[in-house]
Amino acid sequence: MSDPAPVQHFIRSIVEADLASGKHAAVTTRFPPEPNGYLHIGHAKSICLNFGLALDYQGSCNLRFDDTNPEKETEEYASAIQDDVRWLGFQWNGAVRWASDYFPALYDYAEALITKGLAYVDDLTPEEMREYRGTLTQAGRASPFRARAWEENLDLFRRMKAGEFPDGSRTLRAKIDMASPNMNLRDPVIYRIKRAHHIRTGDAWCIYPMYDYTHCISDALECITHSLCTLEFEDHRPLYDWVLEQLPVPSHPRQIEFSRLELHYTVTSKRKLNQLVTQGHVSGWDDPRMPTIHGMRRRGYTPEGIREFTRRIGISKSENVVDMAVLEGAIREDLETKVPRVMAVVHPLKLVLSNYQDGLTASRAAGFHPNHPEFGERIVAISREIWVEQDDYSENPPAGWQRLTPGGEVRLRYSYVIRCDEAIKDDEGNVTELRCSIDHETLGKNPVGRKVKGVIHWVSASHCLPIEVRLYDRLFLDPIPDGHKDRDFLEFLNPESLTVVSGWAEACVREAAPETRYQFERLGYFCADRHDYRGERLAFNRTVTLKDNWSK
Ligand code: ATP
Ligand code: MG
Repeated sequence: MSDPAPVQHFIRSIVEADLASGKHAAVTTRFPPEPNGYLHIGHAKSICLNFGLALDYQGSCNLRFDDTNPEKETEEYASAIQDDVRWLGFQWNGAVRWASDYFPALYDYAEALITKGLAYVDDLTPEEMREYRGTLTQAGRASPFRARAWEENLDLFRRMKAGEFPDGSRTLRAKIDMASPNMNLRDPVIYRIKRAHHIRTGDAWCIYPMYDYTHCISDALECITHSLCTLEFEDHRPLYDWVLEQLPVPSHPRQIEFSRLELHYTVTSKRKLNQLVTQGHVSGWDDPRMPTIHGMRRRGYTPEGIREFTRRIGISKSENVVDMAVLEGAIREDLETKVPRVMAVVHPLKLVLSNYQDGLTASRAAGFHPNHPEFGERIVAISREIWVEQDDYSENPPAGWQRLTPGGEVRLRYSYVIRCDEAIKDDEGNVTELRCSIDHETLGKNPVGRKVKGVIHWVSASHCLPIEVRLYDRLFLDPIPDGHKDRDFLEFLNPESLTVVSGWAEACVREAAPETRYQFERLGYFCADRHDYRGERLAFNRTVTLKDNWSK
């Protein structure tokens, strides 16, 4: 990986200080997704931070699944997440880790807490527990079961594990402080009874540890040095530290919080993304309109472009609300120098070159990239009939028009200057065909005695390849679709986020393997779909337009 130099931020400063002082010999981070959905652009920020630090300081980064909610977690999600991390260009240290690998250790630590009088089995119902918990302005009250002797707690906890009690009837709670101003310290539940099949442990357990209890111990067992998470966990840090201080764990990682990425015109919550999928608003988790890593990949975004985006948005504790244009800009810049340029027509209008003459009218070779001769070249074939873009013709053009208009001249990219002689219309007055004539003196030469400024793209009808083109627009019409109190985010779906059209491309794209990217000149960057082939017809997804069409 040869990315530009990292941008300095407060977490890097902490890591550097810890390495300089000898507090740590090496940095160890982890990326801890829950396998309950596909990862999105916000996760990409966290991945680039955690794996990026490990790379920059020659440390290591673990991939650990936080699999403590068996009902929502699947193998499909877990394997998609691994694909995403690798596709972004990162490799985790050693084997994939699972919080469930630590279930036996977590259980033993829970017994240790009980024995020390620091955890108790509670029989309150969830409603009662909520009531006892108090509010932000009112201290909580002790559960009547808080005073149980440790021996009884140990016996009950063992029986919880053995499956003697129904789901939800009892919990194990840490005994901390019911009057703490921090609600997270008011005797948080650390184990619950739940008969659910787990993707890794099957039916071995009917009690599952809670996230806050599991996460800190998992970090400690892996000797993570810096445990990086988003700001909503700031109030959980005292609990993170409390658990580790009570137990004989091998290390005490430092939790550091940073702000989550919010991207305008989309949502970054697995729950909401799941809703888009299950309710059929998109074709799946990898629909190219989704802000998921799978979706962005299918759309044609590059790992380098996404990494560059996360570099640009930085890491801090202040709000990180970013416009889509920043992401698109990073992708566009990456593609600009990397991908071959060819011609395709997405809204085709037939154009007949009336003085086309076999033997006289010639095709020309053209390079695939103006600055990269090593990309090679191809022959841009011409024939009597060609396709041009409908909106490159206007009968009553605005001032300064440099494209097709009756009597006007324009250059066909990599070919001749032509003059538009006549437009053929149907009964309703729609232009169905243009008749034009070639100036045969203009192949690779300027016309004599006049300037022709306009250049349009086109393809030869007898050589081109039919393509399906998916034109994507923003999925939502509102910058913060889930930011309205009284309105559901789905109300802001953009009904025109996808337009599918039939077009034509130069024949040289015929061999395009899935995920091959091109610039279609004047139109944007496109990517051959990973999945869809309709017989001979290749499908191309528009990755991004050439210019930002939104900020004008
Ligand atoms: P979601 O809210 O979408 O369900 P999550 O936080 O529950 O996300 P996890 O699988 O727990 O999803 O996240 C794994 C890691 O990614 C966590 O460390 C989390 O802090 C981080 N992360 C999740 N969303 C963002 C975001 N928008 N910006 C930065 N980091 C994020
Ligand atoms: Mg989470």
